[in-house]
Amino acid sequence: MHIKEIFKTSSTTFSFEFMPPKTDEAAEQLITTVDELQQLHPSFVSVTYGAGGSTRQRTNDLVVRLKTETSCDPIPHITCVCHSQEDIATILQRYAAHGISNVMALGGDIPRKLGSYDRSQDAYRYAADLVRAIRKFNLSGAHPHPQGFGIGVAGYPEGHPATPNRLVEMDYLKAKVDEGADYIVTQLFFDNHDFYDFRERCELAGIQVPVLAGIMPVVTEEGMRRMSQLALGIRIPAKLLRAVKRAQGDDDYVRKVGVQWATEQCRDLLDNKVNGIHFYTFNRSNATREVYASLGVKDSRALAG
Ligand SMILES: Cc1cc2nc3c(=O)[nH]c(=O)nc-3n(C[C@H](O)[C@H](O)[C@H](O)COP(=O)(O)OP(=O)(O)OC[C@H]3O[C@@H](n4cnc5c(N)ncnc54)[C@H](O)[C@@H]3O)c2cc1C
Repeated sequence: MHIKEIFKTSSTTFSFEFMPPKTDEAAEQLITTVDELQQLHPSFVSVTYGAGGSTRQRTNDLVVRLKTETSCDPIPHITCVCHSQEDIATILQRYAAHGISNVMALGGDIPRKLGSYDRSQDAYRYAADLVRAIRKFNLSGAHPHPQGFGIGVAGYPEGHPATPNRLVEMDYLKAKVDEGADYIVTQLFFDNHDFYDFRERCELAGIQVPVLAGIMPVVTEEGMRRMSQLALGIRIPAKLLRAVKRAQGDDDYVRKVGVQWATEQCRDLLDNKVNGIHFYTFNRSNATREVYASLGVKDSRALAG
């Protein structure tokens, strides 16, 4: 469903992010996760693209599989990095042909294995340029939906490391929306004050599209460290760090701490009329399902309003 229609029918969206699996074993694990999470009836699920340099074809394969074999509505991520104009057009045509309704347009990070890759080879430098290209594709009538693809973009409540000037950064975010983005999904954060402040700054900048909050329940100390490296700049509050430390490396206890923290974040976000909650699942369902249960929710639609 086009994201604008999803927002019309759901005052609060619930969505899950998956990564394309790299092995057969990981693929089986993901299918189990999807089976379990689709019972919660998410508004949509999204699939990352080339994060950390993994093969991009896998995103396409997973998106098509989710679309044809499950009840999930998949939103593929697309990045500017390492792509020509023709590449992007081909990707969009393929997704349009499979009836994919929305895409997430991102700048992307240079895959580690490409080291000092020269970005001047890319057709699109910034996500705003990619949004413009998708809009152009939409206007060409190449998508079966009259409005074409719905378009999501990324936002950073604590700031993106490449732009230390937060006022200028907000101008760049506004540019993505002005080019045609329909919604914003935030980087994960652990302190809701950062999100509320970001939401207010968006309002002050004249950004009127829904802002969905990115939530990641901490499940292991190692996972928390890895995420802190991937999502550079995120702050892990001392209160959370202290609780993780108290668990003394016992994964079961760390997971309980993480689920409790994420549950409190979600409860507070719902009380503060968040447009949507987007769970970074890391292809596992348990933590997300436990957060739902602690919120007293069996089905996302019960909260959609
Ligand atoms: C929800 C979410 C999902 C993600 N999914 C993926 C994924 O699937 N695959 C992946 O590889 N990465 C993913 N990322 C990471 C993302 O690609 C990186 O953080 C990347 O560095 C920035 O992407 P962006 O879309 O914000 O880029 P942009 O909006 O292009 O911004 C990148 C940087 O450039 C600055 N900037 C923007 N416009 C200009 C301009 N005109 N002049 C100068 N500077 C400018 C911005 O302020 C920012 O610092 C995701 C991030 C989020 C929050």
